[in-house]
Amino acid sequence: MNAIIITIGDEILLGQILDTNSQYIARRLTEIGVEVTEEISIPDKRDEIYETIDYAMQKADIILVTGGLGPTKDDVTKKVLAEYFGSCLVFHPQVMEWLEELLRNRNLPMNENNKSQAYLPDNCRILRNYKGTASGMWFERGWKSLISLPGVPFEMEHLMDTYVIPDLKVRYPHLQLEYRMLKVYDVPESQLAQHLESWEDALGDGLGLAYLPAPGWVRLRITAKGEAVQHLETAYEALKKVLTGMRYTEGEDALEKQIGSALRKQGGTIATAESCTGGEIARLITSVPGSSDYFKGAVVSYANEVKIGVLGVDEKDIEREGAVSETVVLQMVQGVKRLMNTDYAVSTSGVAGPDGGTPEKPVGTIWIGVATPEKVFARKFVFSFTRERNIAKAAAKALELVMSEIEL
Ligand code: ATP
Ligand code: MG
Repeated sequence: MNAIIITIGDEILLGQILDTNSQYIARRLTEIGVEVTEEISIPDKRDEIYETIDYAMQKADIILVTGGLGPTKDDVTKKVLAEYFGSCLVFHPQVMEWLEELLRNRNLPMNENNKSQAYLPDNCRILRNYKGTASGMWFERGWKSLISLPGVPFEMEHLMDTYVIPDLKVRYPHLQLEYRMLKVYDVPESQLAQHLESWEDALGDGLGLAYLPAPGWVRLRITAKGEAVQHLETAYEALKKVLTGMRYTEGEDALEKQIGSALRKQGGTIATAESCTGGEIARLITSVPGSSDYFKGAVVSYANEVKIGVLGVDEKDIEREGAVSETVVLQMVQGVKRLMNTDYAVSTSGVAGPDGGTPEKPVGTIWIGVATPEKVFARKFVFSFTRERNIAKAAAKALELVMSEIEL
């Protein structure tokens, strides 16, 4: 089964918004074993919409369309769909009742624009939208499905989760796909691939392995399709055996979540002292619900006077070694651990860029300090990305260093 995703909207093509709808839909379809073969973005124009729908109906089994369902003049998707599927827009009293209920709950008046949302083609299944006025539409031709959803991301997600995904599984019962994830640290992808070669060759039909590398780790995804789903566990266990001796974590959870579970298990606490990451590590840690159980706080010690005054870093060391140095991150991490009385702490100081680099400390140089109940250490990294990426990389690396200490 394959799918084409069509996103409609001038805003996407003008670069005013990022097409996140395709990403969401593609991910959800992949999860149930539908292969997305194309993503197409087109303007709110009758001819383009008509032609693209026609093309997609020839090439794909499932077509997902988002956008252009609003009550305004520039939203033409509904009309074109009615035309394409040989219907016309007719008044649906039931949809009108839904709209009245929705607007009543929001204390909004019913106007002509809203009323027009009750006019829909008469040859599709209508998907009730509890979060907006544009209903979803599910057309069928032979075994093929074309599903049209509103462009507003949370409305689209709501309809995807409530109707589209569950009902696609019912309509196409042979769709089955399951996968397991593992994250392997500190082994280059090529070396890992070589190590796994014979295991991979022995994988049966319907099973596959994907490498998803990032600096510092490689995520592995074993996917099983159709009948092979019953062999997934065995293959996964075998893979873990082959990985013996390497450092890996199971599942898909982000590092901050894994740190949270590990700290909760041992009743440990953590704090951060952040210079170049500006609180990004704290933000990641606190993005996990319940993090108040183990996260005590952060000092964003951007200025040297804060490093000195709040964290107790020695002024002379800053003068001699610079703020981006091993000595300073070590003092920062010990300072915050003492200040907040935690079991673990992590600190960062670096040159995020784009300016501020020197030959000895080029842009992307980041020192990270880690303190555990037993020891303190620091490591230097030189990333060479943009400012944003440097900050993200430094925060991810800091979490990774902490995680490997907590796990021990
Ligand atoms: P509305 O009733 O709001 O008009 P609609 O179905 O007509 O809904 P659009 O007008 O195409 O949808 O888009 C509404 C808003 O949803 C856009 O302004 C944009 O912010 C967002 N949006 C639309 N398409 C996408 C997309 N592909 N990815 C992310 N956001 C999108
Ligand atoms: Mg609109």
